Amino acid sequence: MRYISTRGGMARKSFSKILLAGLASDGGLVIPETYPVISSSELRAWRNFTYQELAFEIFSRFSDDIPPDDLRDIIQRTYTAEIFQSKDIVTFKTLEPGLHILGLSNGPTLAFKDIAMQLLGNLFEYVLAKTGKELNILGATSGDTGSSAEYAMRNKHGIRIFMLSPQGKMSRFQTAQMFSLQDPNIFNIAICGVFDSCQDIVKSVSNDLIFKKKYSIGTVNSINWARIAAQIVYYFKGYFSATCSNTEQVMFSVPSGNFGNIYAGYVASMMGLPIKRLVLATNENDVLHEFFLTGLYRPRAAKETLHTSSPSMDISRASNFERFIFDMSGKDANKIIDLWQAIDNNGTFNLIGTPLWEKIKNSNFVSGSSNHEARIATIRNIYEQYGMLIDTHTADGLKVGLEYRETNVPMICMETALPIKFPESILEATGHRPPCPAAYKNLENLPQRYTVMNTDTNGIKTFIIEHV
Ligand SMILES: *Cc1c(COP(=O)(O)O)cnc(C)c1O
Repeated sequence: MRYISTRGGMARKSFSKILLAGLASDGGLVIPETYPVISSSELRAWRNFTYQELAFEIFSRFSDDIPPDDLRDIIQRTYTAEIFQSKDIVTFKTLEPGLHILGLSNGPTLAFKDIAMQLLGNLFEYVLAKTGKELNILGATSGDTGSSAEYAMRNKHGIRIFMLSPQGKMSRFQTAQMFSLQDPNIFNIAICGVFDSCQDIVKSVSNDLIFKKKYSIGTVNSINWARIAAQIVYYFKGYFSATCSNTEQVMFSVPSGNFGNIYAGYVASMMGLPIKRLVLATNENDVLHEFFLTGLYRPRAAKETLHTSSPSMDISRASNFERFIFDMSGKDANKIIDLWQAIDNNGTFNLIGTPLWEKIKNSNFVSGSSNHEARIATIRNIYEQYGMLIDTHTADGLKVGLEYRETNVPMICMETALPIKFPESILEATGHRPPCPAAYKNLENLPQRYTVMNTDTNGIKTFIIEHV
């Protein structure tokens, strides 16, 4: 398997050559030249596979320059009952016949990002050890991504992580999760500013190519291809759990922000998994819903992005979306260059009346959006009807998923975080706080280790130089 760029300007590369990179050198996103197609006899055999076996079969098709025994070892060390609470890694709960919740939040930070990030940590360490190199990860977070990355990279040889977060803007739980880490390779930097200030610093450090090269600066953001590949696995697992035979179709409802989770579902369907519909759910920041409804793509400016009670979906510029449009255009890099030029010039592109829009309308994507009131009502209804507590993001997915249910087609809703991460909303919906897992009871009382800094790129550079 070889990887190309959505902007057409990168020589074909192998998996281990693209693993550590962020954007392609031409500014595009890295994507496989073709998707592996799973035969019906393979799909039959996979039905009985464990999560680890499935992860190996699927991931190895995307990482064919990693020796199989090494990959098997990495997967065995990543997907353990110690890290994900059970050897099944994901949980599958049936609310009523045909309505299911796929639990993806059993990893150390209680959100679905752990599933891919834990694998990424071990893959990075493996590839760095082979080349004798080191990596300094610089990131910006408003919550889930940062903690997921830190729990994946702690104790990893050859890796340091410098994570910028807006001081005082994350939830108490999220702050405690990150700042209580005492590992010497983890540096939490609380920036006096907002999330965008953090993001801007990361961008300007990354744009200093000399500094970036000298200090081996890397990222773990959601455009990383290995994260997408790791997420494909649970779509297969969810499908097998919801069906009895491979002639059946299912629908997945996915709380979406950066289009990374649902894009993995799209790749699964391109590989041959019988997915009738991929239901894309947004919160009040409904850029993607607007696109699937109208053909108009209008990413919003940071100041137009609302702060909502499903904060991990407060995204107005869905980075992985470019991969989807590239695929739908028949891998036409010039088309992508034109469309993204239009965004730079006019802030938008409109596909209405084009063959590309016809193709997207006929794809298996549908969409909807949710808001605070609907989110709280969904949490309350699901709790009262089924006795199950869900978090605010999962609630957005359920709210929209329920709008698209069809008889005899199982609807599988992705649970992307646990309710304990967002106790205020749970309290508002149900009248009481969510139970806290025993391992997290004392979290907010642990000593915290972090450095407060101004929004100053040079200050951050100096900090990195002093700590590598
Ligand atoms: C990141 C995140 C999302 C959005 O996933 P994308 O891959 O960015 O679309 C949804 N819910 C939670 C809890 C998240 O952390």
